[in-house]
Amino acid sequence: TEYVADSKRYDTMKYNRCGKSGVLLPAISLGLWHNFGFIDNQHTAREILRTAFDLGITHFDLANNYGPPYGSAEENFGMLFKKDFKSYRDELFIASKAGFDMWPGPYGNMGSRKYLMASIDQSLTRMGLDYVDIFYHHRPDPDTPLEETMVALADIVRQGKALYVGISNYQPKETEEAAALLKELRVPFVLHQARYSIFDRWVEDGLLDTLEDNGVGCIAFSPLAQGMLTNKYVNGIPDDSRAAKSLTYLDREQVENNLGKIKNLAALAEERGQKLSQMAIAWLLSRPAITSVLVGASSASQLKENVKALDNLAFTDEEMKVINANS
Ligand code: NDP
Repeated sequence: TEYVADSKRYDTMKYNRCGKSGVLLPAISLGLWHNFGFIDNQHTAREILRTAFDLGITHFDLANNYGPPYGSAEENFGMLFKKDFKSYRDELFIASKAGFDMWPGPYGNMGSRKYLMASIDQSLTRMGLDYVDIFYHHRPDPDTPLEETMVALADIVRQGKALYVGISNYQPKETEEAAALLKELRVPFVLHQARYSIFDRWVEDGLLDTLEDNGVGCIAFSPLAQGMLTNKYVNGIPDDSRAAKSLTYLDREQVENNLGKIKNLAALAEERGQKLSQMAIAWLLSRPAITSVLVGASSASQLKENVKALDNLAFTDEEMKVINANS
């Protein structure tokens, strides 16, 4: 059936300025790392994307190697974009990345100009897009001069293949250096994508300050610690969960090791009248430097539930103490 976006889609979502740039991003964005590969249910994938846009989620996050197999999330997204979102292109902010293992041989990984230039072209072809809104270097490459990588990002912008650039998983010092180079190149460096959740607070040790100093926004990935910060594991590990599946980066042991904290946090969320996922997202949005919280979802109903986090974003000092004691 033909998709017509909800006419109320901009009524409830919050939009936050991305650092000191002109870009606004939804407080909650959608990532396509899991659940959009050829191995996944295509009908569900379509439902998730439609639901996202209907809720005012204008930002979709992809990367060259999302799937599995590699490239298949971009290919599926391209197919669904063509069917449902073509007429909404200017209302969408679409991301891709290169930096991790993508194709065999010496040119399909890390941070060379050779890799990045080829990868952006492949991504655009798979998605059927003329340009992405933001293109990231996905992780730092200690063996390639940073200048080579940053000049490649700049040239991708100058060629019209991306409007803005970002980096992901860079430490504070590398971020500072990247910002200086991109400033000199006059390329709009607007976002750092970093893992950040109640369970993983490494960005508080310098990175968020560096980003604020440089007027760069932060988008937090794996905000639910891949599903641990939801109510799903409180009573055991469901068969269809990420922790039970092979080919994922969450395993049963991680869940079991965190179960005590998960239960305490779920109890606190309940006192607040929230699901744990909603509290975990609200907590991130209460942090000053966070532009957007980048969630994943294996169903449209999860996404709907998560967006309701916006209904209660305030925390008391007491609640913060409990969260800190369980992080
Ligand atoms: P989350 O921490 O949000 O985990 C999402 C998973 O949690 C879902 O797929 C689902 O898993 C479960 N879940 C979500 N909502 C609920 C709910 N309401 N109730 C119960 N379970 C729920 O994020 P991801 O780890 O998926 O990362 C999000 C995005 O961040 C990625 O898609 C990607 O775009 C980006 N990312 C970037 C990285 C980088 O290096 N730059 C690395 C990793 C991610 P289940 O299958 O169990 O239902």
